[in-house]
Amino acid sequence: MIISFNRPYATGNELAHVAAAAAGGHWAGDGPFTAKCRAWLEARTGTRMALLTHSCTAALEMAAILADLKPGDEVIMPSYSFPSTANAVVLRGATPVFVDIRPDTLNIDEARIEPAITAQTRAILVIHYAGVACEMDAIMAIARRHGLLVIEDAAHAVMAGCKGRPLGSIGHLGVLSFHATKNLTAGEGGALLVNEERFCRRAEIVRVMGTNRSQFLRGEVDKYTWVDQGSSCLPSELTAAFLWAQLEVAEEITRRRVRLWQAYHTGCASLERDGILRRPVVPRHCQHNGHLYYLLLPNARSREVFMARMKERGIGCAFHYQPLHNSPAGQRFGRCHGGLSVTEHVTDCLVRLPLWPGLEDHQQEVMGALTDCLAGLAD
Ligand SMILES: *Cc1c(COP(=O)(O)O)cnc(C)c1O
Repeated sequence: MIISFNRPYATGNELAHVAAAAAGGHWAGDGPFTAKCRAWLEARTGTRMALLTHSCTAALEMAAILADLKPGDEVIMPSYSFPSTANAVVLRGATPVFVDIRPDTLNIDEARIEPAITAQTRAILVIHYAGVACEMDAIMAIARRHGLLVIEDAAHAVMAGCKGRPLGSIGHLGVLSFHATKNLTAGEGGALLVNEERFCRRAEIVRVMGTNRSQFLRGEVDKYTWVDQGSSCLPSELTAAFLWAQLEVAEEITRRRVRLWQAYHTGCASLERDGILRRPVVPRHCQHNGHLYYLLLPNARSREVFMARMKERGIGCAFHYQPLHNSPAGQRFGRCHGGLSVTEHVTDCLVRLPLWPGLEDHQQEVMGALTDCLAGLAD
């Protein structure tokens, strides 16, 4: 029996929607399925404007344009993230400034943001790791004090919240991912959440090749033309149709993931009490979405042995980010502020367990193997 680390979940309605989109004849972007997805995202998150994109990476790049980042500008972010987070900033010629994460939630340590601010700082780019919220009240207060923008990379965090507010809708701009490894998926896909009126008009333009085609299609101008910087960030209607099948049952997918997450959490409680590992920490004010379940093992060696043993049992586990600050591009384009010892520890010690709807029938087996494979590792 092979239990893979990830398996994308199909609801069963994807192909019917794709067939309807194909039959409808509107195959390019911004047709009826894109409109449905957009309305759903706007209603679900409360954002002013949700723009579907072909990836979260594209949405991050749009956010960097909307933030007006220029060479010399600095953006404070965690090093423990995906390359796209920093790359969007670097494409504008700006500099990522990496700070350490909190040892509990593995999110940017808000106490390290203010000391990293300089006269060049323009924005704070946070990621909600594992769908658990950053300390957004503190982060928004810092941004207000210093006149900075806050961009939320909520790639992990669709359907997750913080004090009842959907993640991605709290900062000035937010981004979601619908990649095949994320909770809700179109294969590849993403969205930009524009939370402030002042960015809405330009966001539409940046998304459609720097043209005012969106206004033209609404009949607001009588021809469309090149008016600003931009790119082609639209997903096709076939992608939007696929995604719509997932959004229709987003609550159920999230419930199933949270239940699997909770079963791991309960199952690992005694291992944590015995000092063998550390479980994820979810602050009381966070509503997570079961995006991923990780364990922190005592050191790099124990993680390596554990993962090899699990693999022998046919169970796929995965470590996670290679920190951006000591990656080749991170060293070339970014800089650090302060030590990043928590980031480096987590890089070495974190392991993610299989978690996907459908795992219910095999989770006991994973738990049994996990307990066996941890034997003797903490000694
Ligand atoms: C997955 C991910 C991305 C990139 O998403 P794509 O849709 O693949 O472009 C960006 N940031 C984080 C934190 C991610 O996990």
